[in-house]
Amino acid sequence: MHESYLRRAINKAKEGRVSKEGGSFGALIVRDNEVICEVHNLVRGRDDLTQHAELLAIQVACSQIGRDNLKDCILYTSCEPCMMCLGACHWAKFKEIFYGASAEDAQKFGFTYSKSFFNIDSKLRHTEFRMTQLLRDEALDVWK
Ligand SMILES: [Zn+2]
Repeated sequence: MHESYLRRAINKAKEGRVSKEGGSFGALIVRDNEVICEVHNLVRGRDDLTQHAELLAIQVACSQIGRDNLKDCILYTSCEPCMMCLGACHWAKFKEIFYGASAEDAQKFGFTYSKSFFNIDSKLRHTEFRMTQLLRDEALDVWK
């Protein structure tokens, strides 16, 4: 079940990759086995650096649900959230987060992460945010 939702997020990343508006990152938010929203990065289309897939998904889900937290929701994201998105995940209070590519993978493909991000022990980060990696190879294929 988690894999099929994450695969949908990865498919969104593929859409973002070929879209003029997007970047190659996708996210999906699920509550009680219902998909609340499914988006890809829209940084180019909106000329807005905050339009990362996860942050956009959080904005859409909060407005759809009409609440300022997502504590009964699960985030599926094609790539491990950056510092900006992880900050929003902290406030969202997600039950769990599943991601495809790791931050280290993203960095190898030329995507930017703050040095501070890597000063945090990744195990501590993954424990605090209840994060689990799945489908890494499929997520990496999006960037190849
Ligand atoms: Zn981000």
